[in-house]
Amino acid sequence: PKKNLLTTPDLMLEEAKALIDSLPNWKCVDSIKIPVESLEKKNVFGSGQFEDLQKKIVRNPNISAVFISTNILRGIQRKELMMAFGVPIFDRYSVVLQIFKDRARTREAKLQVAFAEIPYLRSCLVGLQKGTKSNLPVDNTNRGSRGGGGESVYDSQIHLLDRREIKIKKELEKLSKKRTLLKCERKKREFPVVAIVGYTNCGKTTLIKSLTGDSKITPRDALFATLDVTVHGFKLPCNLTVLLVDTVGFISNIPVNLIAAFNSTLRDAIDADVLIHLQDVSHPDLKNQVATVKDTLLQLNIDSTKPMIQVANKIDKMTLEQLEDFSDLQISAKEGDGLEELVESIQIKLLEVTNRRYLRLMVLSGGTEYSWLHKEATI
Ligand code: GDP
Repeated sequence: PKKNLLTTPDLMLEEAKALIDSLPNWKCVDSIKIPVESLEKKNVFGSGQFEDLQKKIVRNPNISAVFISTNILRGIQRKELMMAFGVPIFDRYSVVLQIFKDRARTREAKLQVAFAEIPYLRSCLVGLQKGTKSNLPVDNTNRGSRGGGGESVYDSQIHLLDRREIKIKKELEKLSKKRTLLKCERKKREFPVVAIVGYTNCGKTTLIKSLTGDSKITPRDALFATLDVTVHGFKLPCNLTVLLVDTVGFISNIPVNLIAAFNSTLRDAIDADVLIHLQDVSHPDLKNQVATVKDTLLQLNIDSTKPMIQVANKIDKMTLEQLEDFSDLQISAKEGDGLEELVESIQIKLLEVTNRRYLRLMVLSGGTEYSWLHKEATI
């Protein structure tokens, strides 16, 4: 996971601020850089740095929380820092989780976020367990049914979380079965699925809006604006309707279980006939973003055999010389440059992928390259 860290402290800081900006009611009032080497250490801060920060926070009443943006804290670390600074401590996982909570719209996405929160809540309990057992809030209604006596508050809280986890999992399984049914429907209709994946904010929503001309779609300059997977019908020039799937954006250094929580919605991407990997080539941390997306796809069991089109987006922000480095398909989702070429690539890729399914039809129809697609689409 270390290789997924943003490459320079400046970029880390920039992403951290963007994460905070994505949370309603929070803003970043001050920041410091922590050397990357210290992230893996037991103590996040060097001693001088720690005392400076402590003074800064105590003297500034406008600081109501501290966000350690670079890593995931252990429960005990979080507790120690909270005691030292006197304010709540957020880490990368909790902030991303909070954004996800805020953005989840469908019942499935909400349940998935709740499911992803459980390991985090468990780690908070472990942190609190040491020294403050008796101060934990207790849900008395459930304690009675546990037979009372002998059991520590910590144990009963853990037990509650376990039960909650099982319940959410069951609900998710039910919903997932429903999705499978929907997928069968989709298969019957024979619409090929094209999924767009990429680092958060790379322009996925903008691209779908430009391709479909759907004015209801509003791209936002915010991280994780697209949390629920959304599907849009789109007609290729050859008249074949494909389903375009917009997916949750990926982000570096986020633990596998949070990605796994979105696994069932990301199945649409996994099951897609073609993936478009959209890249914001104007971003200074492009290399790391691309690596993160590839890594996340691997974690979702999508390997190099999956038909994929690499697309360089936001070329309107670049000079021609800068663009020489990119051999990929180049587009500006916002300005509309390169979209025809992209659509052409999607058609060709679909032809490659589905040729076994459709080739016979093509030969039978004997027409132009795409006439079979037209036939297939109108069957
Ligand atoms: P998503 O998170 O991947 O869905 O990204 P969005 O489509 O919401 O876009 C994120 C931000 O990038 C928005 O402010 C868009 O206006 C901007 N954006 C997207 N595509 C382009 C592009 O081709 N050129 C420029 N200049 N900005 C773009």
